[in-house]
Amino acid sequence: MQGDFYDRLTRLPNRCFLAQELSQKFNSVKQNLTESFAVLLLDLDRFQVVDDNLAYGIEDQLIIALARRLEAYTRHHDIVVHLGSGEFAILLNSIKDVSYVQQIAERIYKELVLPFYIKGHEVFINVCIGIALSKKDYQQPEDILRDADIAMHYAKKLGRSCYQIFNTAMHDEAVEVLKLENDLRRAIERQEFRLHYQPIVLLENKQIVGFEALVRWQHPQRGLMYPSEFISLAEETGLITALDYWVLREACHQMRTWQLKFPDASLDTISVNISGKQLLRSDFLDQVKQVLQETKLEPHCLKLEITESSLIKNISTAVNIIEELKALGIQFSMDDFGTGYSSLSYLYNFPINTLKLDRSFIQKMNESRQKLEIVKAIVTLALNLDMEVVAEGIETANQHAQLKVLKCTYGQGFLFSKALERQGVEVFLESELLAQKYYKQTKPQYNSEEQFSREQLLIHIERLKQELEELKQEKTDLEILLEMTNEHSSVVELELHKEISDHQKAEAALQEVNKKLQSLSCIDSLTQIANRRRFDQAIAQEWWRMAREKHPLALIFCDVDYFKKYNDCYGHQAGDFCLKQVAQIISSVLDRPGDLVARYGGEEFAVILPNTDSEGATKVAQKIQLQLRNAQLVHGDSAISDYVTMSLGIASTIPTPESNPDALIAKADKALYQAKMQGRDRFVLSKTGDSNQ
Ligand code: C2E
Ligand code: CA
Ligand code: CA
Repeated sequence: MQGDFYDRLTRLPNRCFLAQELSQKFNSVKQNLTESFAVLLLDLDRFQVVDDNLAYGIEDQLIIALARRLEAYTRHHDIVVHLGSGEFAILLNSIKDVSYVQQIAERIYKELVLPFYIKGHEVFINVCIGIALSKKDYQQPEDILRDADIAMHYAKKLGRSCYQIFNTAMHDEAVEVLKLENDLRRAIERQEFRLHYQPIVLLENKQIVGFEALVRWQHPQRGLMYPSEFISLAEETGLITALDYWVLREACHQMRTWQLKFPDASLDTISVNISGKQLLRSDFLDQVKQVLQETKLEPHCLKLEITESSLIKNISTAVNIIEELKALGIQFSMDDFGTGYSSLSYLYNFPINTLKLDRSFIQKMNESRQKLEIVKAIVTLALNLDMEVVAEGIETANQHAQLKVLKCTYGQGFLFSKALERQGVEVFLESELLAQKYYKQTKPQYNSEEQFSREQLLIHIERLKQELEELKQEKTDLEILLEMTNEHSSVVELELHKEISDHQKAEAALQEVNKKLQSLSCIDSLTQIANRRRFDQAIAQEWWRMAREKHPLALIFCDVDYFKKYNDCYGHQAGDFCLKQVAQIISSVLDRPGDLVARYGGEEFAVILPNTDSEGATKVAQKIQLQLRNAQLVHGDSAISDYVTMSLGIASTIPTPESNPDALIAKADKALYQAKMQGRDRFVLSKTGDSNQ
């Protein structure tokens, strides 16, 4: 009998015991006999061993140690229950008030952040605690457990260890999540998922070697949603396996299509993110085989990206599955390296081909010498283990240059390209190939170590146009000369004609690409950020989304001051370069996935900031101005400064479903106009109308 109510490992009361205890309490409540009580749910989120020579199989002992510590730091009339693996519950009896519960939770929590010593290892744990207090309107034991669970999930979502006490706002949020979960269940059959593809490039010359497929959800009401908004929900609900399967099939199919369509593009691999749950499924191997067979993609062109944290609990099974898939020729990347357990010893255990260095490392690389050394050490180690390294999230030319010096081979990041829609990728590839072709054909004066990127292609078009004009002039001169001397030098003329027509063809082809680029793609061809078309889409989507969520939406218009003078002073090519710099500066300030900067037209940029009020938008505007000032782009012809400056107009509002973004756009536009009128190099916030330097 004893065994039915007690857990064998920890010798603590178990789930059945708790159920019985709670139902007794609920009976007493009905008879008004009991004092207040609370249920505290605790989940061991993850643990970390400080010593790098991690020993396996310490989890059971850790759970026993945790059980003892919980017992030691609760009062004698509280009941500590082991629910299973890393889950515990504590029934807190005789509760006076909320602050009393808080005190207990804090005491427990403080004890749990101290390290455990297991088998000579120092082990740190992360726990999330959810608490619910007994209430009159609870009908049955499940009600209080449900609310403690909601609070625990809330704590989990906040990341890091912490505790949360249940409140009704959490309940409302849980209902929202439930709605989203229902939508998610139907999203696959309704074909609402989309794939975007982010180029992975060879750092040496920026040549595209493959893509990473990144999923997006075109939600019928909420607009385009990013993985951060639904992947963890998909994981919790198990829907991730269906989603990952869809992504795998779609990505393989697309890659095969591109390989056939662009045989000269040397597209080596398509990288697909696979959650641990999906990889560990017994039928995953068969799924992959089937997808490859159906799509006719060569196995070595598929690279599966996995994170170490998703596999940590089942290392040996995971390693077996990876080995089996590798035997088929499929490659593996360790994603987000450095964010999970980051134990270098794991690298030896996982038979992977590629290590993807997390973008947090790249971002911090310039902060100190040590941080740079860490990146250097990881790259060196990986190369010594015959792994390739892909640096993630490269945003600046400086980071690019440094990584090249560190011998990191591949990279991915906004500096090269954001994730693009299918058509965007095709235009990108077409222009890249054309650039390569003309790079080979053109005269030695264009030779350079680097292959042409799209920006260079545009400069190239300009050069060709100029050259064409010169040739035409030359031809006319020659014709006059021929007439004058009355000699027939048809060979020279033929040569000349040929050259002119070659250039004309080249120009026509390039202009064709250029046009396509603008009409098809959502990317502005000069600055590589979103274009006006994308802006129009995005503002409408975000308007709807914010209207539903009743959150503010902010818009900033930024206009480069005295830009015409800049062009007059330095020429159009420099002007283009300036706009690219400005686009990059604005992009670098935006750090949330939903934020968007678009080229609105000419030298004007628009920044869409969902979930942002006037105050938040003002901070962003200040940052943009600060970054631009720090960049010190020299402007010899500016009437107000030695450097390039910008005027900004800010507006924010809480959208309503009955209206549209036009008023917001007009407000931001008016504010920008005011900023210009007030002397430029400043921002104006629409609501108050005041300005700032
Ligand atoms: P990840 O695998 O680390 O993917 C890279 C993320 O970094 C992408 O975000 C990408 O847009 C973003 N990124 C790329 N370059 C830069 C840069 O220069 N700067 C900054 N700040 N960010 C950059 P995204 O698309 O929002 O994806 C987020 C995460 O969602 C992915 O992280 C991946 O873990 C997960 N995910 C995406 N697609 C799938 C999928 O199909 N299946 C599964 N299981 N997970 C997915
Ligand atoms: Ca990834
Ligand atoms: Ca990653």
